[in-house]
Amino acid sequence: MTEPRTVVQQLVTANLILANEGVLDAFGHVSVRDPDQPNQFLLSTSKAPELVVAQDIISYGLDSEPVAPPTAALYAERYIHGEIYRARPDVLAICHHHSPAVLPFCVAGKPLVPVYQHGAMMGAHVPLWDSRDDFGDTNLLVVNSEQGASLARSLGDAKMVLMRHHGATVVGADLQELVFRAVTACKNAEFLYRALALGAVEGLTAGEVEKAARVPPMAMARAWQLWAGRVA
Ligand code: MN
Repeated sequence: MTEPRTVVQQLVTANLILANEGVLDAFGHVSVRDPDQPNQFLLSTSKAPELVVAQDIISYGLDSEPVAPPTAALYAERYIHGEIYRARPDVLAICHHHSPAVLPFCVAGKPLVPVYQHGAMMGAHVPLWDSRDDFGDTNLLVVNSEQGASLARSLGDAKMVLMRHHGATVVGADLQELVFRAVTACKNAEFLYRALALGAVEGLTAGEVEKAARVPPMAMARAWQLWAGRVA
């Protein structure tokens, strides 16, 4: 058997890290744009991220359908990935999750604003997608290209979008940046939730967000090394 490609191994590690750090649980998923085929992306078949191995990773087109006939069930919400890759050429990695850290903000509709250094990675404004705007009452899942495209429009040029009563979708310029942003955004949500219990909260200023968001790749590599070590 041939060795899995490096990008596949990195995607497996991203699955394990995001599960271990409390971003993903039985549900949610993480993908990466294929570096050799920009109109395709790599994503596991339907499996809890903590259990994903290289053999589960398959290629999808931007229509979010598998390139080769699948031999396993697929994630129902894979359309999130294809439609964001289609709308955002700058996005090379995507995570969709339902972390308990962000769900209170999705339910209450309160703004998720950066309140600490690495929270700035989310960007100053995290939009909230309301599926009712385009589709009325649904089962809350993103199960076709039209719904994925609606979510991508709500994301706009942001780094993360909250999904009303559902979860969040985070994007990155590579897997390392994506994982860093997904984990630190959940930490920021926890800090903000706790701080609000203490009283009114003032977020970072626009200038602070702009400066603090420029996290050096070396710092993100340091975090990846720690988190990958925990799942090795
Ligand atoms: Mn979901």
